[in-house]
Amino acid sequence: MKKNNNYNILRNTILLTILGIIILNSYLHATNSSRLFPSIHALCPYGALESLYYLLFSGDMLKRIFTGTFILLGLTIIIAILFRRSFCGQLCPFGALQELINKVGNKIFKKKLIIPEKIDKKLRYLKYFILALTLYMAIITTGLWYSSYDPYSALGHIFKIEELLIWPSIIGLILLIFIIIVSLIYDRVFCKYICPMGAFLSLISRISPMKITRNNKTCINCKICDKVCPMNIEVSKEKEITNTECINCNVCVNNCPKEDTLEINLKNKKITPTKLTVIVLLIFFGTIFIADLLGIYTVKQGQVGKGTLIKNNQSNVSEIRGSMTLKDLTNGLNMTKEELYNKLEIDLTVSENTLLKDLQNNYPSLTPGLIKQKIDPEYNEEH
Ligand code: SF4
Ligand code: SF4
Repeated sequence: MKKNNNYNILRNTILLTILGIIILNSYLHATNSSRLFPSIHALCPYGALESLYYLLFSGDMLKRIFTGTFILLGLTIIIAILFRRSFCGQLCPFGALQELINKVGNKIFKKKLIIPEKIDKKLRYLKYFILALTLYMAIITTGLWYSSYDPYSALGHIFKIEELLIWPSIIGLILLIFIIIVSLIYDRVFCKYICPMGAFLSLISRISPMKITRNNKTCINCKICDKVCPMNIEVSKEKEITNTECINCNVCVNNCPKEDTLEINLKNKKITPTKLTVIVLLIFFGTIFIADLLGIYTVKQGQVGKGTLIKNNQSNVSEIRGSMTLKDLTNGLNMTKEELYNKLEIDLTVSENTLLKDLQNNYPSLTPGLIKQKIDPEYNEEH
């Protein structure tokens, strides 16, 4: 396989786009109505893992966790079963942030930090301890205990810095600053030693049929694969990369100068890094898209699920609030956008993300009360 620049471009574009979306969303969440933009917790699959025990035993989800968060968790698990830690290597925004900073650091310092192998190996167990500790604490506190110490959560609250300057959230902020500084000279420090989600996906990836193989006969032992590996795996010494530290970034495969030497194998079928990335992307975002269309992907406070504004086969308009969006109504009332907009007599160009109370800016007479009456002509405010 010759180095394929298109793969680098594709992978970097995806990672940076996801990171950009997360940062933009965090900004909008902090500066606009949190009703319109989800919190970082709702978008982090680890929050759903912390909430799993609570869900199983109380039938409810922890605060700030939604059905969409569970869908994200399900997707990361499916991807880990099929394609090992491809979530870490292809989709994770915090992994992307570390890689980005490391690239900047490489340009500035041209030096890499080397942690002695013995210490490095021991330190890698730390993330499993953090996994066990944070899940245990989530159970006994019935809350997202880890979020105050989580540098990714700190990143998501960076535009509400005052919330991070108080104890214990300041620990998450300090960790975030530490990770940013260390990432300048050391690859993926958080992924290697701290991330409980990475630890969880490592455990699942053991059952995946996918692996990277190295052909001893064609390998010229140039060790390029070792040099480019962000997780410091000695690829050139292995026949098969089954190391659970591998984040399946496939940078080694892409950089190997010898044809047919490093390959991704899925049940003895060869698959190129680009194809794998596209498949992972389609599974992840395709499922989210379909779940959203079906109205089961909720990630925001008060977001209305499919059909939840219908009672005894009738529109339950008394539940409608000015803080809901037009999209909430189409979801909750099982209506198409056209049906709803026709009933409300509003233009189809009005965004579905408009809050009902904001509709009055363009349609002054359209009060929440009138909206209810237009949807259900028999509705009477005194009900
Ligand atoms: S180890 Fe954690 S931070 Fe790193 S890529 Fe995986 S999920 Fe993201
Ligand atoms: S072994 Fe290859 S695919 Fe795995 S982390 Fe290292 S470079 Fe990425």
